[in-house]
Amino acid sequence: MTDYPTLTLNDGRQIPQLGFGTWQIEEEDAPDAVKTALETGYWLVDTAAIYQNERGVGKGIGEWADIFLQTKIWNESQGYDRTLKAADKCLERLGRDHVDMLLIHWPCPDKDLFVDTWKALIELRDQGKAKSIGVSNFREEDLRRIVDETGVTPALNQIELHPSFQQRALRAVHDELDIVTQSWSPLGQGGGMDNETVKAIADETGQPASAVILRWHIQHGLCPIPKSTNPDHIRANFAALSFDLSDDQMGRIDALDSADGRMGPDPSDFN
Ligand code: NDP
Repeated sequence: MTDYPTLTLNDGRQIPQLGFGTWQIEEEDAPDAVKTALETGYWLVDTAAIYQNERGVGKGIGEWADIFLQTKIWNESQGYDRTLKAADKCLERLGRDHVDMLLIHWPCPDKDLFVDTWKALIELRDQGKAKSIGVSNFREEDLRRIVDETGVTPALNQIELHPSFQQRALRAVHDELDIVTQSWSPLGQGGGMDNETVKAIADETGQPASAVILRWHIQHGLCPIPKSTNPDHIRANFAALSFDLSDDQMGRIDALDSADGRMGPDPSDFN
């Protein structure tokens, strides 16, 4: 049995550091992919209303007991009442009466609805429909605003983070506010394994290049959620829990950070 690393959230609950992402996994492929991940040992599964695979994810989980399940409220569902309804629909599709973590997918600053949306998440947590609540793609100003206006700090912020885009400034804000950082596109959408430094460290450690990158996230106290539909990749990525990188190897990956390494949308103008 792998010793699964966890972090303590600011609400006192534990979150597994390594998770399984499901963006771009089709509804019909999701049951097999999720089942393979759970059988490999993954404990956390991340989905979202917009991925249109929640039914398949729910099917893949079935009666599996050791599961930390996350989903997200999509931009069109922002606002207090809409969010309450959208969360019920997520639960219905997933076939569960609660999720472990419910997130606001994007702040959508132009809509200016994320404070009301956050208030709905607080209500959903009080109702027991979400054990923990957090956000995704929130910038420093968005985080500070919901904390100031509601007094409730998100447990987690899921943000784009990989060796080419390390988000050091936002991670420092998370540390100050006691928010866990979860890394989306942790493998740089699969491109991170082509990097020469990463390849060299894979040779030195005898581990898959993907596992080297994921190990780097974990040793930095981050929570990466790699996606794959390939069973060999799903297992290779799980090797991240079975070895250590040296300080020198960590430092060489730290040096890959790039100011223009963002691959996904900029939260400032994504609505
Ligand atoms: P990842 O960095 O996880 O990379 C996924 C890609 O890498 C896929 O093409 C996959 O292909 C490939 N891959 C995975 N493992 C291996 C391996 N061992 N060897 C070779 N190729 C591999 O990118 P994602 O963008 O999918 O991000 C991960 C998760 O983060 C998403 O699934 C989603 O849950 C979340 N996310 C959240 C966002 C948000 O706004 N909150 C935005 C984007 C993602 P294959 O399937 O063939 O293995």
